[in-house]
Amino acid sequence: MQTFKGIKIVNGIAIGKIKIYKLPDYTINEELVSDIAGEIERFESARVKVQEQQNALAGKVSKEEAGIFEAHAMMLDDDDLIDSCKEYMSEGHTAEYAVREGFEAAAKMFSEMEDEYFRARSADVIDLKNSMLDVLFGTDTESLQGKEPSILVAEDMTPSDTVKLDKSLLLGLVTRQGSSNSHTAILARSMNWPTLIQCHDITDDCDGKFAILDSYNSCIYVEPEQYLIDELSAKQAEDRAREAKLQELKGKPSVTKDGYKVKLYANIGGPKDIQAVLENDAEGVGLFRSEFVYLNSKTDPTEDEQFAAYKKVLEGLAPRFVIIRTCDIGADKTIDYMHLGKEENPALGFRAVRICLNRRDFFKRQLRALLRASAFGNLGIMFPMIISRWEVQECKEILNECKQELKAEGKAMGEIEIGIMIETPAAALCADELAEEVDFFSLGTNDLTQYTCAIDRQSANLERFADTHHPAVLRLIRETIEAGHRHNTWVGICGELGADPTLTEEFLKWGVDELSVNPKSILPLRGNVRNVDLSKYKTESPKPEVKAEPEAKPEVKEVKSEEAKPEVKAEKPKGFFGRLFG
Ligand code: PEP
Ligand code: MG
Repeated sequence: MQTFKGIKIVNGIAIGKIKIYKLPDYTINEELVSDIAGEIERFESARVKVQEQQNALAGKVSKEEAGIFEAHAMMLDDDDLIDSCKEYMSEGHTAEYAVREGFEAAAKMFSEMEDEYFRARSADVIDLKNSMLDVLFGTDTESLQGKEPSILVAEDMTPSDTVKLDKSLLLGLVTRQGSSNSHTAILARSMNWPTLIQCHDITDDCDGKFAILDSYNSCIYVEPEQYLIDELSAKQAEDRAREAKLQELKGKPSVTKDGYKVKLYANIGGPKDIQAVLENDAEGVGLFRSEFVYLNSKTDPTEDEQFAAYKKVLEGLAPRFVIIRTCDIGADKTIDYMHLGKEENPALGFRAVRICLNRRDFFKRQLRALLRASAFGNLGIMFPMIISRWEVQECKEILNECKQELKAEGKAMGEIEIGIMIETPAAALCADELAEEVDFFSLGTNDLTQYTCAIDRQSANLERFADTHHPAVLRLIRETIEAGHRHNTWVGICGELGADPTLTEEFLKWGVDELSVNPKSILPLRGNVRNVDLSKYKTESPKPEVKAEPEAKPEVKEVKSEEAKPEVKAEKPKGFFGRLFG
């Protein structure tokens, strides 16, 4: 038996075979080579092989889908594309270099076209580039995850690798690198996969071996002894029983012993998570990371495609309140078709609302889709990575422009609330003035910690320094809640800290209105809330910090979104406090 230690991300026991998930190394040789004819021959044979693959795929799918692969095969016959690659090779570059440069130039050309259809072809060319590189580098992509349920062991995973995984084949996840605040860790938590990161010593020769991932003890046992198999199988059964017991909390209010009510909402990534929201009895959605709609798409999703996704979530969860955050792409969430370019410090770079405000048409497509979807449920729109008041005002202006356009087109819309993420120290420190612009704040504690403590949330080396309970972060959270309440702006927490059971009582004491967590954390968190008694704090000072009993809650505030509101559905309660107590 071998034991490898790591850092636990999600508690649990996974029992099964290990599959080493090895991403291809596509480090391209930038040096010139002398065998020009040889490179051209490699390129040609890769081209023919990819063409065969595409034709074979066309034969396996429906007639409609077959068109995509047939078109791919035809693209590989395109003289301009082939000639541009051959030009690089005739200058002495490798076939891999020629493919990267030639295909990326073609993709860029498509992406800049006016016509939406041609713009979408950009992603097809990128797909083909990847397939060509797979062949040139000799990667068998089919076998990356294997065909049977397994504990996946990877060097590291990007969010886009993670979303592509076949969940039905995943028992647990172990990475050699990784950080606990990365989006991959967040995805693992939301899927509740037993997960370890920084399991540096696990070796590739564990592939196919029987193992038990015991993240309670932050380790994985490879070829474990029988006593461990018995012990940990029993523990796994206990976990399942405890999970079953939590079901008793379904339908019960999320209220402290002394009557303080908090909303427990879920964080989701798209329509596929509707079921998890319902199964875990979330009272709403506090963060729909809309960028996953983009990450899951091969092309820049059209207004109609986005509308369909948002409508599905709003309709599927009505009358629950659903906060959809506008696209927070950039930093670790990169998308080929966005052509964002490389940056020295991507977390401090061109991301989220900064991209949206600089690419107005891109932003308007999403806002129009959201407004159209608002007719089908109870929507809050939230802008990420805000640092200044003018950004919020500009977002609202563009939103307004979209409303006017849709009104003129006779499209139905519902009433919406507008909010922002407080995830930069700048926003937290300017919370008083930002609160005047919006209906709600949602504290993004993942980025707030990263930017307050200057700790790259992606860095595996900083795990020791990354103190999620850092007093500076907790102080900014508390002060943001207080600032919001001074302006009748309700305040939630949607970062990972919201699910931290050791902070639940503090957050409630500070008067947080909503906690938005991964669906699996809803019921355990409800259990925590119901065990808290805040009455002890009320006697400490003449003016208690906690909110009064529900009946004495502040008046329903006026929704601060600008201009004439579209029709309000009769049954829709006004504002957050309206929903809370209405
Ligand atoms: C956060 O920063 O806390 C947050 C919720 O957003 P994300 O994790 O998607 O950056
Ligand atoms: Mg964030």
